[in-house]
Amino acid sequence: KGDVQDFGIQESLSELEQLADTAGLRVVGSTYQKLASPNPKTYIGSGKVSEIKSAIHALDVETVIFDDELSAGQLRNLEKVFGGDVRVCDRTALILDIFNQRAATHEASLQVSLAQMEYQLPRLTKMWTHLERQSGGKVKGMGEKQIEVDKRILRNQIGVLKKELESVRKHRKQYRNRRLSVPVPVVSLVGYTNAGKSTLLNQLSGADVLAEDKLFATLDPTTRRVQMENGKEFLLTDTVGFIQKLPTTLVAAFRATLEEISESSLLVHVVDISHPMAEQQINAVDKVLSELDVSSIPRLIVWNKVDKTSDPQKIRLQAEERDVVYISALSGDGLSEFCNAVNDKLKDSMVWVEALVP
Ligand code: GDP
Repeated sequence: KGDVQDFGIQESLSELEQLADTAGLRVVGSTYQKLASPNPKTYIGSGKVSEIKSAIHALDVETVIFDDELSAGQLRNLEKVFGGDVRVCDRTALILDIFNQRAATHEASLQVSLAQMEYQLPRLTKMWTHLERQSGGKVKGMGEKQIEVDKRILRNQIGVLKKELESVRKHRKQYRNRRLSVPVPVVSLVGYTNAGKSTLLNQLSGADVLAEDKLFATLDPTTRRVQMENGKEFLLTDTVGFIQKLPTTLVAAFRATLEEISESSLLVHVVDISHPMAEQQINAVDKVLSELDVSSIPRLIVWNKVDKTSDPQKIRLQAEERDVVYISALSGDGLSEFCNAVNDKLKDSMVWVEALVP
């Protein structure tokens, strides 16, 4: 569909495969179809539906994942056609599943549960209309009533969750205010998921933050103190990884977490320069940042995984031309240059802060 302007269809699908892998699924195949507009009933055309149905039987498929968000009706129709126990889901549901598996703090779990419920609310019809059909229409109307009851229960749960989140956030804010009262600059790592943010944080601080070759290894912001060779210190914060087509419910859910970024002295944008889609990933990150109102915060761009590129020398020259720092977070190459660059940028921003103080 149209909203993959930057990422090609193949790239978006291969990212979806990686997401499925992260969720613990084994991918047996993928396919796509070009349509002028999605089919309102089944998203794809009827020929494609039959083709997938045959593949489901031939390969004993348990789950079919669509790269775009499906409506409640489309989900229901597709599950009906595919039959049996085949589960149909979309990119959003898959990402929500992954976030659910990986939420490490109480706040992150609350945020994910809330996003999941908000995703479910308009899709609740499914189970009860199934029941109606099975009963041959005898319980007609019953289903609808039940949907209303379920929706009310879900809305209540959403309300309870929101209250709980509010109190957790208040707590965190107090903690953050205490932290901010200590005059140590806060540096936030931002970047596309899997760019190497956790690895960099680990290398610099000796912290043992989960770093894995999976999408979204990092969900919760983690802050560590880093001491530079000149004795100065800064706080380094790792944030949630960004991704294209991040479900809007999730962006909203994680807004509070992302807002911490707006209180930092410096943003370090970590880029996996060895990735074939590096440029598009940079754009995806810039897009989220532009929504966060952080344009006044100085930025430092870091090209990571230089060791993985086919021509590291060329990358180094390009980086020097563009005033970009190049590192290998994994091997530790370039880390002292990185710290010097952070120091320089912080010096600039400190001058700016001092200028404001009478
Ligand atoms: P995050 O999602 O941005 O926090 O990324 P991670 O720090 O979890 O790293 C993702 C994957 O990239 C892990 O498998 C890391 O070992 C790997 N990685 C990170 N930095 C480098 C690097 O400089 N070189 C290479 N070759 N791999 C790296």
